[in-house]
Amino acid sequence: MQHFPIFLNVHDTRIVLSGGGEAALAKLRLLLKTEANIDVFAATPAQEIVRWAEDGRLRLFRRAVNNGDISGTALFYAADENAAEDARTAAIARREGALVNIVDNLQDSVFITPAIVDRDPVMIAIGTEGAAPVLARAIKADLEARLSPSLGILARIGKAFRPVAERLPSGLKRRNFWSDFYFGAGPRALEAAGVEGVEAALDDLLASHLALEPRQGRVDFVGAGPGDPELLTLKARKALDQADVIIHDRLVSREVLELARREAVFFDVGKEGFGPSTSQEAINALIVEHAANGAHVVRLKSGDPTVFGRLDEEIEAVAAAGVDWRIVPGITAASAAVAAIGQSLTQRGRNSSFRILTGHDVQGFAEHDWSGLARQGAVTAIYMGKKSARFVQGRLMMYGAAADAPVTIVENASQPGQRVYATDLDGLALAMADVSGPALTFIGLSPRRAMVAVENLNPKEIAL
Ligand code: SAH
Repeated sequence: MQHFPIFLNVHDTRIVLSGGGEAALAKLRLLLKTEANIDVFAATPAQEIVRWAEDGRLRLFRRAVNNGDISGTALFYAADENAAEDARTAAIARREGALVNIVDNLQDSVFITPAIVDRDPVMIAIGTEGAAPVLARAIKADLEARLSPSLGILARIGKAFRPVAERLPSGLKRRNFWSDFYFGAGPRALEAAGVEGVEAALDDLLASHLALEPRQGRVDFVGAGPGDPELLTLKARKALDQADVIIHDRLVSREVLELARREAVFFDVGKEGFGPSTSQEAINALIVEHAANGAHVVRLKSGDPTVFGRLDEEIEAVAAAGVDWRIVPGITAASAAVAAIGQSLTQRGRNSSFRILTGHDVQGFAEHDWSGLARQGAVTAIYMGKKSARFVQGRLMMYGAAADAPVTIVENASQPGQRVYATDLDGLALAMADVSGPALTFIGLSPRRAMVAVENLNPKEIAL
């Protein structure tokens, strides 16, 4: 982030602009919306600028900027559309202590003006650090269409009501009140009865919230999917939007956490296979503690919460405390990994069932029905299979699996660092040595030939 977005209070401060042409006009249309005092220097100003000056909306000086003109100025815009003149006026402005923007000259500007969606007092500023103005415009158009023009009115009425709403205790209760106002009672009342209707609705809503029983906490066990935030379900997104407390695993991606409500409190209770960990008991206690305090807790687990997630232990703890809960399913790693290699988990004539298993469990390496797994055509998805790769390889061979049975490892499925290792059972342990991220191992599947993203490395050859 080279440019840090802030909202500057320009009430009664001075903003100076040099220039009288198209670029100046474009900037002035924005600046005139502010409560700043605007001075324009232009030897030959456009008609519109002259009119604004006559209307008293800005002061016009029909000459070029000189030394001493900029002192006491917060912001200066060099908008003469002439590189030499812009450099000259900008140098004066800098010397005299103003922050300088030169129109269409990112490099020499100390600030840039974002694309703005204006629902005063709600302001959305969009910037791309000069990288993609087209993108900024597209985002602006999208938001303009999406945000009702009445949003500003509601926010202004809401702002005036804030001191009254302080009768509700701060935190959750007050947030619920505002959320009900902005997304329910407010827009409804505005449509039905205009501004006065909204004011009456606020009073009613406050009365009903003051009468409410303390809110019941609840727990959503939510699948965060394999990492790509676009693979979240809409239900998961909603839960993340509304959560007061988010308790997440180490594997939940940063991109997914970014989508969660800013005010939520986050706990990382990451567990690493064989590594340091928060104990399951401590996690259970943390969930119950917050839910019992009335919080909406989102217990966010990578992939699907019902797959190797120790979900039942957490549900039992929550249910024993009498707290409401539900499960929001997610896309499990095996689904993302098999998509990455362009295959399907079942196939007519090849396998009518597939197995999901873990390379290790709490006791160590896990035992399975090895002879079933070793059968030709069997498809198995192995989770947490890094440390146990050699063990699994040994067991399968011992039970008669072919050394050249196809094996594919998908690392960081659905994430930017996704890698596919195509090998065979004989090469499994060796291939795994290269894997550092979370990885899903398929026994009995190879990537579809046509896929291009595959690193077709043969670990055996590399080793020799
Ligand atoms: N509930 C999760 C699994 C948790 S166990 C799910 O449904 O996906 C953790 C294991 O999942 C990891 O050791 C790894 O084997 C697998 N895993 C999770 N995310 C992965 C990803 N993006 N790519 C590959 N494997 C992943």
